Amino acid sequence: MKRPSILVLGAGYGGLTTVVNLQKEFGTDAADITLINKNEYHYESTWLHEAAAGTMLPEDVRYDISDVIDSGKTNFVQATVEAIDVDNKKVTTDNGEFTYDYLVIGLGFEGETFGIEGLDKYALSIANVKAARYIREHIEFQFATWSTEQVKDDSRLTIVVGGAGFTGIEFLGELANRVPELCKEFDVPQEKVRVICVEAAPMVLPGFDPELVDYAVGYLQSKGIEFSIGTPVVEATPEGVKVKKGEDEFEFIKAGTVVWAAGVRGNRLIEETSIESMRARVKVEKDMRAPGYSDVFIVGDCALMINEEINRPYPPTAQIAMQQGERIAKNIKALAGEGTTEEFVPDLKGTVCSLGEEDAIGVVFGKKVTGRRAAFMKKMIDNRALYMIGGAGLVMKKGKLKVW
Ligand code: FAD
Ligand code: NAD
Repeated sequence: MKRPSILVLGAGYGGLTTVVNLQKEFGTDAADITLINKNEYHYESTWLHEAAAGTMLPEDVRYDISDVIDSGKTNFVQATVEAIDVDNKKVTTDNGEFTYDYLVIGLGFEGETFGIEGLDKYALSIANVKAARYIREHIEFQFATWSTEQVKDDSRLTIVVGGAGFTGIEFLGELANRVPELCKEFDVPQEKVRVICVEAAPMVLPGFDPELVDYAVGYLQSKGIEFSIGTPVVEATPEGVKVKKGEDEFEFIKAGTVVWAAGVRGNRLIEETSIESMRARVKVEKDMRAPGYSDVFIVGDCALMINEEINRPYPPTAQIAMQQGERIAKNIKALAGEGTTEEFVPDLKGTVCSLGEEDAIGVVFGKKVTGRRAAFMKKMIDNRALYMIGGAGLVMKKGKLKVW
């Protein structure tokens, strides 16, 4: 077997799981594995809403990549990928050029603004750990400014969340707990604060179980969160957002903070390659390879797979990204040994959506769960993801081990 050179781009859930499994598949000295990532750390994207609201410190969301990879088997390079030339098998970064026999692209997601005017410029997005820290600090700045300014502008204390998908709802759950803390810290009367979620579809969490959705909305409303449903955001300005309320009816919501959580796309670099994509997501072959490129695999949110049972794409989730990483490692091992690849088949265990630290809703193995039980399950899911990448040591170091 020729010693293959394998290049993995991105140390998110998909990229890191691929690397950890490549290390297992190939053992020592059987492959040259290189992992490239922008930062020297991995961040848990699934915890970013906590860092953004300020209920978790940004540093607690991340861990060093060197803690979870075997430096004897994988060469980690901290670099930002600038271009991917799949026709000439070359990747350009700000830290040199790289070639490969097999390439795995796992550069993750970006917030999707659908071309809506002003959103790119004036709204904040929970896109990565630095962006999450910025949102936290922006909200604190607004509260601090309000409490010191002579002529008070109450709209500083209004937070608009665009989108009531899973990210929007999880972020609202954290804000519901964070706002009372902020009010205490910055001497702000809580009745001055408004948190408004604006959703385009006729329901919160479109497509999710209606009974669980009612539970979530009731819970969040009881904590002071307002909902504007069936009312798409059509524009953002430095002062707030314009919302469409009817055929020719619009409302302007003045807000000091606008967080856009209304959907994701793949990494823009994908669109600059010659691989075909839709919103920077590649409709992959059944074995996770890019169409037309037998040496390029796509993992995680840059990959698009159709669930043939319902003829709709699988949602981009960490759960699926990690399972894809395992399959891709096996498929590369098979190709390197001149074997054949196997189809990736997702094994969906369910979905749990947190509503702050102590509440949640979910469907797990087909059963509905709510309340503390669901919140406990969410923590266990988070800990399992740590375990799959870094074993028990990582769970002890970064895990959510506090249970009320
Ligand atoms: P990512 O996790 O986005 O990782 C991409 C990596 O690539 C990052 O390390 C990034 O720094 C790096 N990178 C990006 N660009 C470059 C570049 N140019 N050069 C070098 N490196 C680069 N899914 C679930 O299953 N369960 C959940 O509970 C859940 N909760 C979520 C909560 C929030 C707030 C959000 C935003 C998402 C949530 N998701 C959840 C979805 C999940 O986070 C994503 O599906 C998952 O992160 C995708 O993994 P990935 O490996 O494709 O990319
Ligand atoms: P999403 O696409 O799931 O939800 C976006 C929401 O924004 C939708 O409800 C949509 O109708 C709404 N929207 C779109 N345009 C709008 C507009 N102009 N104005 C107002 N609302 C608008 O995106 P997401 O919530 O960012 O989630 C991204 C992915 O991450 C999904 O696959 C999701 O399943 C996953 N995720 C999972 C969890 C979890 O499992 N707990 C948590 C967060 C995210």
